[in-house]
Amino acid sequence: MSTHDDVIVQHLIDPELCIRCNTCEETCPSNAISNDLRNYVVDVDICNGCQACVSPCPTGAINSWRPVLRQSAYTREQQFAWSALPEAPSDPALDAVPPGRGRGDGSVVVENRFTPARPALARVVENRCVTPRADAAVHHIVLDVSNDDFPFLEGQSVGVLARGVDAQGARHAMRLYSVACSRDGEEGVAGRLALTVKRVIENRGGEEARGICSNYLCDLTPGDAVELAGPYGADFLMPDDTTAPLIMICTGTGVAPMRAMLDRSRALPAPRAPQQLFYGGRTPQEMAYFDALQAAYGATCDIGFALSRQAGESKRYVQDLLRERHDVLAQLLARENTHVYLCGLRGMEAGVFEALAQVCERHGLNWQALEAAMTQQRRLHVETY
Ligand SMILES: Cc1cc2nc3c(=O)[nH]c(=O)nc-3n(C[C@H](O)[C@H](O)[C@H](O)COP(=O)(O)OP(=O)(O)OC[C@H]3O[C@@H](n4cnc5c(N)ncnc54)[C@H](O)[C@@H]3O)c2cc1C
Ligand code: SF4
Ligand code: SF4
Repeated sequence: MSTHDDVIVQHLIDPELCIRCNTCEETCPSNAISNDLRNYVVDVDICNGCQACVSPCPTGAINSWRPVLRQSAYTREQQFAWSALPEAPSDPALDAVPPGRGRGDGSVVVENRFTPARPALARVVENRCVTPRADAAVHHIVLDVSNDDFPFLEGQSVGVLARGVDAQGARHAMRLYSVACSRDGEEGVAGRLALTVKRVIENRGGEEARGICSNYLCDLTPGDAVELAGPYGADFLMPDDTTAPLIMICTGTGVAPMRAMLDRSRALPAPRAPQQLFYGGRTPQEMAYFDALQAAYGATCDIGFALSRQAGESKRYVQDLLRERHDVLAQLLARENTHVYLCGLRGMEAGVFEALAQVCERHGLNWQALEAAMTQQRRLHVETY
């Protein structure tokens, strides 16, 4: 919760996104979160805005912040009664509030323009598998969102509402997917939104289990309609400052927001500060855009790959690549305006942070202090799921 005179940015939980998993309540060090078996809510009098709960939340529901007048802050009781976030209050005093959240290129960050109850309608333009191995399929899906004027920025996510109902007859819960192209649109075509979607197929006790939304998306064909909510998120955005170096670390579909940022940087009139991409996966055949990244962005970004299952080679994870590139990494980490982005499956976080700490130690930097400063200055961006 950040303050500005008698206006506060209140931390809320979006009941439409929340899957009631209890992770945030277990994570919050201040016991600010509680539930009534129906909704999870944040106590405005206790929450100190530390954001410890943000990254562990699997849906992004926790990442809802709203400027309100302190005396009109939403109470726990009000939040318990919600089935959706209420309309933002209109008050001139609230316009004066600095966003306290990331902004891209000085543009206004639009969030939650469309909701699951009031979604935007998009049309599929393109849907192709971008991994040669069919059993590890990742699809590049381009949607035309121009009809409903759906805005998006690199680093934001969109909510996809798969058709159909669950075992209880309720509509499937929304899933989030990262924007994978620049705000200017896929291939520079305004209103074209790209997503990078892994087709989730799991073996549960000998039975094949197919993820609801990822399979829905991967099976779409050009012309199909898709309902979208969002855009969501203002914590993973690019800095306005084009002299700020970017360190991008990703695994799996975590490459999606990195592709979006590289796309944006490439389109800037003047070259931006150094960009380093560290991309980890099992084999090139299972990694989205493996060849395409170098071809499209190799001139503006130093791209390194780490392969953990390449035949005839020893296992190399993304954290190993960070340790190998310690010189350049330490140089960039030492700069006061470097931004670090980390995206992929949650399991990658511990190894990456350990490697960053080792790199720092080797070069006389204090990672703990650096991490705290970067977090406070909103230069450390983590999105794992
Ligand atoms: C902020 C955010 C951004 C995201 N961005 C992307 C993105 O750009 N691309 C993308 O493909 N997914 C992304 N996801 C994950 C996505 O929202 C879904 O969770 C995922 O597609 C599975 O949904 P499903 O309906 O197919 O599976 P469900 O029917 O919900 O089944 C869930 C099962 O899928 C497994 N699973 C979930 N995600 C993955 C994955 N990526 N790889 C392997 N197994 C998985 C879970 O362990 C679980 O067992 C993001 C999630 C968040 C919170
Ligand atoms: S962690 Fe996220 S999805 Fe889980 S209960 Fe909290 S807000 Fe809801
Ligand atoms: S921001 Fe910090 S204090 Fe507030 S609910 Fe999340 S973990 Fe708790």
